[in-house]
Amino acid sequence: MAPEKLYEGKAKIIYSTDDPELISQKFKNDATAFDGKKKGQIEHKGVRNAAITTRLFRVLEEQGIITQLVEQTADDTLLCKRLEMFQVEVVVRNYAAGSICKRLGFDEGHKMKKPMLEFFLKDDSLGDPLITDAHIEELELLTRAERDEIEQLTLKINETLVQFFAERKVLLVDFKLEFGKDSEGHIVLGDEISPDTCRFWDADSREKLDKDRFRRDLGGVEEAYEEMLNRVNQ
Ligand code: UDP
Repeated sequence: MAPEKLYEGKAKIIYSTDDPELISQKFKNDATAFDGKKKGQIEHKGVRNAAITTRLFRVLEEQGIITQLVEQTADDTLLCKRLEMFQVEVVVRNYAAGSICKRLGFDEGHKMKKPMLEFFLKDDSLGDPLITDAHIEELELLTRAERDEIEQLTLKINETLVQFFAERKVLLVDFKLEFGKDSEGHIVLGDEISPDTCRFWDADSREKLDKDRFRRDLGGVEEAYEEMLNRVNQ
């Protein structure tokens, strides 16, 4: 059967496959910021983000984290387990940057005493708002057990990635994760981990090596993605 486009997001297109348990994720060069108000293209982003995600998901699997990834099937395409995605985004912050500086007045680069977790509602029409446990419960986005398991998984992922990047002279400032449930009811890490979804700073110079270069028109956008691909492959 010909692959059918199931969903097109801002950075990826999801296709069906012959196996109903599997989907194919094609990474695009399209870039958006500020709730889609800023649009552009980042050359080679699709290929680089697919490769970075593959490498990082494999690193996490070595630590016992179950991910959606089955295999990379093309430069810009990952074959993945089909998941029923939770309608939440989980953000971890090791240093303050981005929205938390605006919201709570932290200086950019403030080091958190411990990793800070935040949940956001995945709903573009509402602008993906920050949500509390009470909101998660009332909207029935996650059961208490799912919320707690996701928190534990997220902290383990953060610990693994902070160390992985430290060995490559990169500060993992913050990042966003998405989880879903597989057909057996297991909670599985999905989506991507890339310079689109993380803030990475060079550990020595604090140079930004992520999508903030696009968001803030800092130049050197393609080079930052290329540099991060090189670092994860070190
Ligand atoms: N993030 C993301 N998708 C989103 C919102 C945030 O991948 O829809 C990532 C973002 O790249 C950063 C982290 O989550 O690494 C925290 O983002 P923040 O809340 O500071 O929002 P932003 O400043 O990106 O709007």
